[in-house]
Amino acid sequence: MNLTILGCYAATPRTFTNPTSQVLEIKNRLFLIDCGEGTQVQLRKNKVKFSKINHIFISHLHGDHFFGLVGLVSTFTLLNRTADLHIYGPKGIKEIITLQLKLSNSWTGYNLYFHELTSTESEIIFEDEKVIVKTIPLKHRVYTNGFLFQEKTGDRKLDMNAVLNYNIETCYYQKIKNGNDIEMQDGSIIPNEKLTLDPLPPKSYAFCSDTIYDESILPIIENADILYHESTFLETEAHLSEKTMHTTAKQAATIALKANVKQLIMGHYSTRYASIELFKQEAETIFPNVLLSDDGKTFEF
Ligand SMILES: [Zn+2]
Ligand SMILES: [Zn+2]
Repeated sequence: MNLTILGCYAATPRTFTNPTSQVLEIKNRLFLIDCGEGTQVQLRKNKVKFSKINHIFISHLHGDHFFGLVGLVSTFTLLNRTADLHIYGPKGIKEIITLQLKLSNSWTGYNLYFHELTSTESEIIFEDEKVIVKTIPLKHRVYTNGFLFQEKTGDRKLDMNAVLNYNIETCYYQKIKNGNDIEMQDGSIIPNEKLTLDPLPPKSYAFCSDTIYDESILPIIENADILYHESTFLETEAHLSEKTMHTTAKQAATIALKANVKQLIMGHYSTRYASIELFKQEAETIFPNVLLSDDGKTFEF
């Protein structure tokens, strides 16, 4: 799993900071999460292949999370895209995007599918043979969801030592990978567990931005490998955090601790602070495994 942060600062785009957008590569699928203004430029700078993006997840309809979307949708047309594009986001996103396409008379040359979300309960919104995506209902000034990306348990792996020990011919390898036992020439059966290794444990990534401190998300994100949680403010601005329905660094760390996640990544920083290191320092008083996101930074899990 590979996470590229395209933007992780709150509110307005500035010279060196970009609003929220990130790319998650999971099991060879490329998911774009949020699409703040400037996302296209950040995709270019970080050398992300536009054509590999087939699914876009939008948390909420504040500008710093989706003002780049209509631009990207239009650029796909200019790049002669033919593949379907799926957009998951709050109800209303279809109206906003299609109105702009309609009035500029620039309909896409590819199929655009909107999956509008209204539920306040966690639900599965994407599933294929390797990956499953669920919503994480959040509490913010407008209807908002985070997203939980989970790998499915993979196939068992061929144990080369065992296979060579038993002198099994290569033509049987696929059969073994598919979970079958092998019958030897003397009629004896070698059970599949003796020829294979357990698959790697499936990983998960939880994205939560923007939200107030809300413990009702704990059962959904429990034991996640990585939690990206917004931390717009420090505790010194807790009053602002509450008023604008955001989270402080300390609160984000408390969620990470209570959900028993392995790693916390912080982001959605207010630009009022001299250094983002301050967020890490405050969070580490609560939870030890803290990483700071920053624009252009990549995390490998
Ligand atoms: Zn925001
Ligand atoms: Zn917001």
